Amino acid sequence: MSKLYFKYGAMGSSKTAQALMCKFNYEQKGFKVYLFKPKSDNRTIVDGQAVVSSRIGLKSKCNEFDCQDDFFKLCEKYDIKGEREVIIVDECQFLTKRQVNELKDISLNMPVLCYGLLTNFKTELFEGSKRLIEIADSIMEIKSICKCGRKATVNARLVDGKIATSGEEISIGADELYESMCYACYKEKLENQNKK
Ligand SMILES: [Zn+2]
Repeated sequence: MSKLYFKYGAMGSSKTAQALMCKFNYEQKGFKVYLFKPKSDNRTIVDGQAVVSSRIGLKSKCNEFDCQDDFFKLCEKYDIKGEREVIIVDECQFLTKRQVNELKDISLNMPVLCYGLLTNFKTELFEGSKRLIEIADSIMEIKSICKCGRKATVNARLVDGKIATSGEEISIGADELYESMCYACYKEKLENQNKK
């Protein structure tokens, strides 16, 4: 029986590269892979075509979804039937709870692999990630390293070099606005900036 997978990691943990390598691997074995990403990420439209691209240079065309989309309908639209087919979702933290529920049902017929962040810059679970933790059949952490060498677990948002602790969950901006760090470094930086 196929499964719903959740593979999460902090920013810069090569999640997207791993999603693309997974796609390549399935395709080599003759599977058809449908790659999805949320529409909110508008940095990766190339010549009008949505593209998933990783920092280490891998990229692939993809389909987009927004929070209104119904994955059963998307399966009809793209003629996804399940036989030797796979769905991969990048930036899956932006799935809604309802969409994760849909993917869970779809995963009864085909593998569904979701790659994304666990928590937002306030160290709170994203809606999609929370639901995936609750109902995914397989949960795997993709590890990355803090400057100090410990495991990075916090996705800090930096505004003018300072850690932000409030604001909207989604801000349109460049990657350099975020830094993944371990909780000890996060707490230390937060305390230092509050002293000033
Ligand atoms: Zn650290």
